Amino acid sequence: MSIQQTQPLIGADTFNWKKWDACTHCGLCLPTCPTYRELGLETDSPRGRLYLMGSAFKPQDATPLNEEWAEYIYRCLDCRACETACPSGVHFGELLEEARAIYELNAPRSISYQFWTNLVFKQILPNKERLDLIFELMWLYQKLGLRWLVQKTGILKLMGQLGQMESLLPKIPSPRLKYTMRDITHAEGKTRYRVGFISGCIMNQVFTETNLATIRVLAENGCEVITPRKQTCCGALHLHNGVRDVAATLAKQNIDAFENENLDAIIINSAGCGATLKEYEVLLESDPVYAEKAKHFSHKMRDISEFLAEIEMIPPKGEIPRRVTYDEPCHLLHGQRVKSQPRKVLQTIPGLELIELTESEWCCGSAGIYNITQPELSQEILERKMIHIAETEADIVATGNPGCLLQIQLGIQKHGLNMKVMHPVTLLDYAYRSVAPDDWEK
Ligand code: SF4
Ligand code: SF4
Repeated sequence: MSIQQTQPLIGADTFNWKKWDACTHCGLCLPTCPTYRELGLETDSPRGRLYLMGSAFKPQDATPLNEEWAEYIYRCLDCRACETACPSGVHFGELLEEARAIYELNAPRSISYQFWTNLVFKQILPNKERLDLIFELMWLYQKLGLRWLVQKTGILKLMGQLGQMESLLPKIPSPRLKYTMRDITHAEGKTRYRVGFISGCIMNQVFTETNLATIRVLAENGCEVITPRKQTCCGALHLHNGVRDVAATLAKQNIDAFENENLDAIIINSAGCGATLKEYEVLLESDPVYAEKAKHFSHKMRDISEFLAEIEMIPPKGEIPRRVTYDEPCHLLHGQRVKSQPRKVLQTIPGLELIELTESEWCCGSAGIYNITQPELSQEILERKMIHIAETEADIVATGNPGCLLQIQLGIQKHGLNMKVMHPVTLLDYAYRSVAPDDWEK
């Protein structure tokens, strides 16, 4: 179905033509684009997608927005590999997010689509209490063995999309764990820095241990860690899916939560969230009240590996005599240009052997909720990643993003590999606490 464009498109007047015009159509980004490599279509390449945006939003020669247009725009992983490759500095991620927001403001979406997006993006993700309740119920569901029962009965196959989502569900940690996180964690020894910590929404529910490990590692390095309760979801999933107004509201809430804390830095351990938090200054650049505050906030944001590599990090003493390979989360490498720091941090661990991964800079196919919205393509992209991971014969794959951790775990299970996937900060935490690998799961 096409959208009748007798009226100008809502939101198209603020589309950033200056950034769009930076594209010289050279095509150097094409070989780095995972969807172009898989599908071989110009319309599934960065250059093709930029053309589609231009043709839909230019007031003088707008072509109708239709489902086919949206298919190409939504098939993009938003991995931003094209940004790294682009010699003209095209901000593809920003343009893509704007394009999706314009589509969502104008597209006649089905009632069920509106119901689900409203529920997830507006009712659940921004609401900590609801999120807590949902994950506590999920934990109970797993704890009572209902998951085993549901999987055994084959009911999931009958549940379609919902059944697929269940199979992607990781093991939920005990809800008690997240309540052990304190508002203020004091530094071990002398206080060298005062830092804020973003605990995240899904990250705090599923990877609570990683959050606690991050705080311990910071404290070990002389940081007083402030984790304000008023903070909320960063809005990354909203931005990637065209729900820009909610993302802006969440950004303001986070800026307010950290504003008066007098911090040296604000730390995040999730690459996807980090890229969005560093770009609040772009999201709120025309907001008369928040533009300056957003700039200040974004400039303080650091990925945990980036921060540790910047300060005089105290090297851990505990040994981890394991072969470790590092996979780069797209939003850390392409979104934040953080490449050497995670490797540098891992190399401080005694006994750890770091093995380079071929195509570590390529997306694993997780890309936020891409493995739910584009399951087949996501699996095809993962397959290529898993071939290279298997080649390393590593014991551990380290990666610093929740989506990548889950996606690679899925690949490891599927291929029956004898490997673990872990956040780099978890390894670091074990090394500081001298917990030997044989004791990790005890
Ligand atoms: S963001 Fe990734 S998938 Fe999308 S066009 Fe760029 S390289 Fe391709
Ligand atoms: S986005 Fe950059 S690399 Fe790709 S075609 Fe345009 S100018 Fe060339």
